[in-house]
Amino acid sequence: MSAHSLPDNAVWHSLEPKLALQQLSTSADTGLTKEEVQQRLQKYGPNELEESGGRSSWDILVDQFKNIMLLMLIAVALISGILDLLDWKEKLAKGEFPFKDTIAILAIVILNGILGYVQESRAEQALAALKKLSSPNVRVIRNGTQMEIAGKDLVPGDIMLLEAGVQVSADGRIIEQSNLQIRESALTGEAEAVNKQADVTLPEDSALGDRINLVFQGTEVVQGRGKVLVTNTGMTTELGKIAEMLQSVESEPTPLQQRMTQLGNVLVTGSLILVAIVIVGGMAYAYATGVTGNKLFNTFRELVEVSLSMAVAVVPEGLPAVITVTLALGTQRMVKRNALIRKLPAVETLGSVTTICSDKTGTLTQNKMVVQKVFTNHQAYQVTGEGYTPQGEFKLAGKQVSLEEHPAVSALLVACATCNDSLLQHKDGHWAILGDPTEGALVTLAAKGGIEKDQWDSKLPRVGEFPFSSERKRMSIISKMEPVDTGSLVGNLDPILKNRVKDERYVMFTKGSPELVLARCKFIDNGKQFINLNDDIRKVVLAENDNMASNGLRVLGFAYKPLTEVPPEGSDEVSEQELVWLGLVGMLDAPRPEVRAAVQECRDAGIRPVMITGDHQLTARAIAKDLGIAQGDNDRVLVGQELQKMSDSELEQQVDLVSIYARVAPEHKLRIVQALQRRGRFVAMTGDGVNDAPALKQADIGIAMGITGTDVSKEASDMILLDDNFATIVAATREGRVVYTNIRRFIKYILGSNIGEILTIAAAPLLGLGGVPLIPLQILWMNLVTDGLPALALAVEPPEPDVMNRAPFSPRESIFARGLGSYMIRIGIVFAIITIAMMKWAYDYTHQPGYPEPESWKTMVFTTLCLAQMGHAIAIRSNNRLIIEMNPLSNPFVLGAVVVTSILQLMLVYVAPLRAFFGTYVLDGTELLVCIGFSALMVVWIEGEKIFFRIIGKKTV
Ligand code: ATP
Repeated sequence: MSAHSLPDNAVWHSLEPKLALQQLSTSADTGLTKEEVQQRLQKYGPNELEESGGRSSWDILVDQFKNIMLLMLIAVALISGILDLLDWKEKLAKGEFPFKDTIAILAIVILNGILGYVQESRAEQALAALKKLSSPNVRVIRNGTQMEIAGKDLVPGDIMLLEAGVQVSADGRIIEQSNLQIRESALTGEAEAVNKQADVTLPEDSALGDRINLVFQGTEVVQGRGKVLVTNTGMTTELGKIAEMLQSVESEPTPLQQRMTQLGNVLVTGSLILVAIVIVGGMAYAYATGVTGNKLFNTFRELVEVSLSMAVAVVPEGLPAVITVTLALGTQRMVKRNALIRKLPAVETLGSVTTICSDKTGTLTQNKMVVQKVFTNHQAYQVTGEGYTPQGEFKLAGKQVSLEEHPAVSALLVACATCNDSLLQHKDGHWAILGDPTEGALVTLAAKGGIEKDQWDSKLPRVGEFPFSSERKRMSIISKMEPVDTGSLVGNLDPILKNRVKDERYVMFTKGSPELVLARCKFIDNGKQFINLNDDIRKVVLAENDNMASNGLRVLGFAYKPLTEVPPEGSDEVSEQELVWLGLVGMLDAPRPEVRAAVQECRDAGIRPVMITGDHQLTARAIAKDLGIAQGDNDRVLVGQELQKMSDSELEQQVDLVSIYARVAPEHKLRIVQALQRRGRFVAMTGDGVNDAPALKQADIGIAMGITGTDVSKEASDMILLDDNFATIVAATREGRVVYTNIRRFIKYILGSNIGEILTIAAAPLLGLGGVPLIPLQILWMNLVTDGLPALALAVEPPEPDVMNRAPFSPRESIFARGLGSYMIRIGIVFAIITIAMMKWAYDYTHQPGYPEPESWKTMVFTTLCLAQMGHAIAIRSNNRLIIEMNPLSNPFVLGAVVVTSILQLMLVYVAPLRAFFGTYVLDGTELLVCIGFSALMVVWIEGEKIFFRIIGKKTV
């Protein structure tokens, strides 16, 4: 990229906007042409940062070997190597392969390390890619029209439009602005937002934080609007220059990783204790029975070999891979359901959500607003028409009216069209809006009454504004009335405004929450003049507001005020006073049909849905009732004003009882989350605005809106709803539960077998059988292949029918909670008892006089352990349902894994080269049948347990 052809950032702030535009050969009104954009894209490259940050590859690799279980395996490999050093010549002479175990174990350690490395770096890359996916779009002017483009397509010379909530996508010189405030903490570390100016030029040596006429990539628009000439893109932006400082990809351990560390510690400590018992006990017994000298050394060596096998047996070598695959599949399933995970822990913890706090507009409702009612001058008009198509009629008591005879309505429509930042566009054969749906509905309404926004925007050019924010719940614009040089405008005004504005040169239109706007009005426009707004009229207006709201309509109030001069910026509190009331507009935002079922699903799953909205309490209640969030008319609605007065502890008292919060401001959301969390709830919270970011960060699962969400809210979230839909949160929660249940399922499966292996190995010397029944290589085979494959298949086990019919589990619970620990030990012991019984029988059987291969009892132990796990895999698919009650094809992978694994195991026994390598012996038919018979006892036991628990009424989960 030949950035040298552009002036450095340091120069742009010392240039007048006009000069800057000339430098970049562009126009503030029409922007660049398509061809120019293409050329510049070629010349300067895409607007992308070469992201560094995150852990280095080396760090990721080293981290893999910090795992206590792998460290133990390395120790085992070394000790086993030293033992082999003592007699490698004899082994070679016998045709055995020395150092086999050391090599195999080290290979597994390295393989695990590489696997972990690949997975973690891929996870980091995937997260980085997800970040890119959620990277912002930008509104620009190109070819004379406004359009939205991807941030990466910006080029120097583009005219970029900024509004509250947007993350700035490139560096630029401000050409026009209104109340533009930008938080530049990403660059300067300064949390306070900076007030930006267009009409200043600054000395060349101004510091970054002082360049108030520039905007910088990666910063956030907190308030206001601005038109900006893009000067630098990609790596030449200020952010690009310090790209390595970019917020690194999340890499703190996830709850699951923490649990795995906990598991590793318990297993390793347990096995070391067992090893100590076996060695010390074995030696003491040998000594006590008079063994001395060389024999004693041989006993010691045998005990060490037993210990090494036990140490290998305790480590679930296949587990990390299975877990990562499960999480990866979980994230994929969630994306398919429109939930984009931004932070990995969310996959595991989503299932633990106890409370979902959701916005109303767009999440519970469709956010497709259609104005249905207009109330002005004591008359309620119905408006017909659908969607954003600007066709419809105004009716009074069912009869169509002509607006020429109803000037009060027309005046209201002028306010609708001008006090508005959205555009109505006819695209691809249908009408759509660019901007906020609430405002879109108003532009459509105005057009239905013949008031075209374009036309009126030029008739009444905007000269100032007090922008909308969720805290203010209103907005105003100030327009100039042409011509201004006559002193009196009346004669030159359109008839609609003629009677309303006298000598003033400006008019301010205000719209917002009706109670708030009405409270700021002193007059009402009766169609001819303004008269005082007395209490009776106020009551009538408020009654109509309540009437519309209780029918679920979203209601906005409108007012205006003639002005002699443009009020200064920041003077909204004083300027938005003594307004002239125009009327009410009520729009329908229908609930999303799928949300009703989702709310019910939440309730069945022990999750409480809570509505938090900026809208009116009656609108909120009507919709909450419709969706089942409110149970009846008596549900308490907590209004922002009340909440404001409550102390934190008072709020904490209420927070479990209230399901509807209305007229709240974003900072209330933060208090609500905190209060819920103090009560031990695990909270998911949605948000879309800039000011929702703190609440999203505080929530256990912060959820941003993919369509309407601001970049800032997305950045703060753990998950993005691609379709803004509440039902998607519930679907993702369900997936979260499935993922976590399956992880627990295969941990139970794998560890039960590990414990069985250890106890069996420890039992051999205790029973005086002499020799180690299982060599490390065989154990690795079991842990990786015969346990690993079925475990992978269990990872895709479909949800049990009752996943969403039980209360959520605490995300802070230990991995051993809810019977997992006792299951592991119980099943491990049963496993061991079955195998040890078989081992004793097999030992005696193979040590009969004349028996050809006395060592084959070991292969029988090996085979029984493997086959018993096959039955275990099939049975553990459900905690409560018996095998015969499950459809074997609902997870064909388990069946497939069992068949493949059994065949592989038999190959180890019956294929000569494999036999030589794995140190096995051929089994005859009787021996094989005995193995199968004993293995089958495992299934009998587990199924018996299920029946037993069913009888005593205990449900295990
Ligand atoms: P939710 O929080 O559920 O998304 P909401 O859209 O009502 O609900 P806000 O966007 O914070 O929440 O709006 C709060 C209130 O501000 C609205 O109820 C409405 O009265 C008013 N309002 C919304 N949009 C505008 C706007 N563009 N101009 C003026 N006032 C608005």
